[in-house]
Amino acid sequence: MMRLFVLGSGSRGNCFAVESDGVALLLDAGFSAREIERRAEAAGLELARVAGIALTHEHGDHATGAPRLARRLGVPVLTAPGTWDRLAPRMRQATLRGIGLQASLELGPFRVRACPTSHDAAEPLALAIRAGDGASVGVAYDLGRPTAAVRYLLRDLTALVLEANYDEVALRTSGYPPVVQRRIAGSGGHLSNRAAADLLAELHHPGLSVVVLAHLSQRCNTADDARATVGPALRRVGFGGTLHVAAQDTPLAPIEVAMPARGQLQLAL
Ligand SMILES: [Zn+2]
Ligand SMILES: [Zn+2]
Repeated sequence: MMRLFVLGSGSRGNCFAVESDGVALLLDAGFSAREIERRAEAAGLELARVAGIALTHEHGDHATGAPRLARRLGVPVLTAPGTWDRLAPRMRQATLRGIGLQASLELGPFRVRACPTSHDAAEPLALAIRAGDGASVGVAYDLGRPTAAVRYLLRDLTALVLEANYDEVALRTSGYPPVVQRRIAGSGGHLSNRAAADLLAELHHPGLSVVVLAHLSQRCNTADDARATVGPALRRVGFGGTLHVAAQDTPLAPIEVAMPARGQLQLAL
């Protein structure tokens, strides 16, 4: 059984983890090391089990705690070479396991695959992690656009963590100057609730059991707005799993990611 930990998500920090067979993998480390330790303890995640820290990109809200945590835990950082280059001055005592786009990377029970995203960072990635029992989690946020590569990576997974950054009306009435609004809504920016709903409806398949909406803007979104847009879209396509909304300030209770049903397993592999 794979468990997904949502330690927090939003523009002030993002950190998730998956755990399977007693091994954990951190997915982004966008809070201070101390804050991640505090949240992990609150959520029941034993950091001593962490075997690596996978990073989507170098922005502070995704990577700020990685250098110190990698050193303290004595584990490698898994990321794209371009991201590593940006972080290298702070990573002196950490080791890189480069995530390539062609082959998957194996770490303990996990197989990590990645694809590029359109975001204003050095070499940003979306990630898909599959555990030995076939359960799998995709993480995609800071997505300017859901490209064909992202759609392909995220297909047939059992759990999806997807950005639902802003409500379109709330963004227009946010008081942000037009240039900032264009940047948020542009191809290097973020996905709206509507765009997340459309993408999830497209990615839905009978084996999808968990959806987590993530990286909500505090100024231009609420958990209720995100749910109200995405929930009905998922119901319309027959989603029978659980829909969660990640919070900025508090971890969620661990989420069990069920192994796909028999017929689906075939499909998923
Ligand atoms: Zn970013
Ligand atoms: Zn971000």
